[in-house]
Amino acid sequence: MAKTRVIYWFRTDLRLHDSPALKAALDLNPTAFWPIFTWDPHYVYRARGGLNRWQFLLDCQNDLSKSITKLNPKLKLFVLREAPQSLFPKLFKAWEVTHLVFEKDTDSYGRERDQVVMEAAKKAGVVVIVKSGRTLWDSDEVVKKNGGEPTMSMAAVRAAGGKVGKIPRPIPAPKRLPDPGEMPVDFEQDQPETAPDLNASRRTEKDTGYKSIAGPSGDFAIETMEELGFPSATTPHRGGESIALERLDKIIQDTKYTATFEKPNTSPAQFDPPATTFLSPFLHFGALSVREFYWRVQDVVDAYGKGASSPPTSLTGQLLFRDMYFAAQAALGPVFHQTANNPTCRFIPWHLPSKTDPSTGIVTGEYHVDSDTAETWFKRWKHGVTGFPWIDALMRQLKQDGWMHHLGRHSVACFLTRGGCYVDWERGAEVFEEWLLDHEPACNAGNWQWLSCTAFFAQFFRCYSPVAFGKKWDKEGALIRKFVPELKDLDAKYIYEPWKAPLPDLKKAGVRLKGNGLDDKEDGTYPKPMFDFNERRQICIDAMKKAYDVDLHGTDKQVLDGSWREL
Ligand code: FAD
Repeated sequence: MAKTRVIYWFRTDLRLHDSPALKAALDLNPTAFWPIFTWDPHYVYRARGGLNRWQFLLDCQNDLSKSITKLNPKLKLFVLREAPQSLFPKLFKAWEVTHLVFEKDTDSYGRERDQVVMEAAKKAGVVVIVKSGRTLWDSDEVVKKNGGEPTMSMAAVRAAGGKVGKIPRPIPAPKRLPDPGEMPVDFEQDQPETAPDLNASRRTEKDTGYKSIAGPSGDFAIETMEELGFPSATTPHRGGESIALERLDKIIQDTKYTATFEKPNTSPAQFDPPATTFLSPFLHFGALSVREFYWRVQDVVDAYGKGASSPPTSLTGQLLFRDMYFAAQAALGPVFHQTANNPTCRFIPWHLPSKTDPSTGIVTGEYHVDSDTAETWFKRWKHGVTGFPWIDALMRQLKQDGWMHHLGRHSVACFLTRGGCYVDWERGAEVFEEWLLDHEPACNAGNWQWLSCTAFFAQFFRCYSPVAFGKKWDKEGALIRKFVPELKDLDAKYIYEPWKAPLPDLKKAGVRLKGNGLDDKEDGTYPKPMFDFNERRQICIDAMKKAYDVDLHGTDKQVLDGSWREL
């Protein structure tokens, strides 16, 4: 019998259920089968990733590994600590691999990495099988059916998706898994020497490291936070396919919630439990299949009949948005994540440094602040000390828990960009990249463009108030009391606007309004608002109007005049 020695490479799909790629691997009837995960220096050292996301990833790996072992005690998720590009050529040879199978990854870096690995496989005579499974439809097929163009609207993705075909029904999880073969690693290894420094804004490969490709015990174990040299995560949210499926079951059992879900009616102030499904981090790591999610919901909707909601506001509509951003990214590649050279992203001269008259020192800039002030605003936004409790609560929720409701993301993204600070959306997207559990390159960039009115959405005159919007959902300010404990005892009348509280009320609540919250933070102090919001909103709207009138797309102009990175 011919030997079929198959490596199944887990990456964006940390699950056993509904995996077309895993099914393809098992359909080969392997004589040896290795489920592996490779540490990728790109994510470890170059991409931003906070502690909470690391913890969630390790949770997903551990859960998957347990499920694999249940199906075959000789197996687990084997973790190999070397970059896939350098690792695979050696593995192909040492393990006498005949097939490499994995789920398609259309992220820009993913494509680049996979190209290198596929070339190595070709050279080694290894057959590569790649299957789409991360989105409702294969994003590349959607782009083809959209005439090669990025999908910039819900209508576009629905029309193109419809032409690709019906969304496939989920595939059941396998009931058994084949045995592994030998796993020699007696080849030259290329692993780093020290653990990465999570505090460095961009880690370097010099910081890196693991003693052996198979881990300190040589058993291909999943790393722990401790072993990685990381302190504990702060998020209460835990990852894994089992939790994801339980969570989905619970949602589906509530047929009314599932069938009548309307995103705009869900509260951004509700956090325990969140008003939306909180399935995004599981989708990100592939611990939950998006098609499983889609069809479980669609079946409830179909049975519910009259009164069920429909896209774009329904639950399935949310998943369509996800596919829309994935297909936009698939068409545009790396430029989707930036304004520069991105043909679909409108150029806005975000916080052009204002012009200071050198003779008088008077700032005459267009947007009335100097770049140092704008940079301080950015930092205060990032660390949740703007002096607007609603914004601060949301940003601290993001940092502490790694998640924020969609409309909360709307509030803070609008505030940072076109509705307050007039700071470049790419700066905000970087913070989300670091702190979100569910950070998805396509969804993050796409939604930041939406909120900053640089693509997908253009109604820049509609701004979120950092006071009225939160109040509408949560009069008592529960979210603020939880995440901004300095204000926890303040009367509800002032919780969104502590600067309006009379001194005796502030005193009673133990609040002192003082400082900027960054370098001079004293216990019991909370800053005054960093600007007059109404004034800033008008300045931003006027500036946006001007930028829209000029109507520049892409950024050749900003690159040419050197202004786009000046903040
Ligand atoms: P639900 O409302 O329960 O929706 C179900 C699923 O649909 C989500 O899990 C998600 O996969 C998908 N979905 C819902 N809304 C969107 C949307 N607007 N765009 C794309 N997919 C959506 N989502 C991410 O998954 N990763 C990101 O990095 C990300 N960054 C964002 C940045 C900004 C500035 C904004 C405004 C939104 C961002 N979103 C991102 C979209 C959205 O906020 C989250 O998907 C959602 O809040 C996740 O919570 P949930 O699972 O409870 O969502």
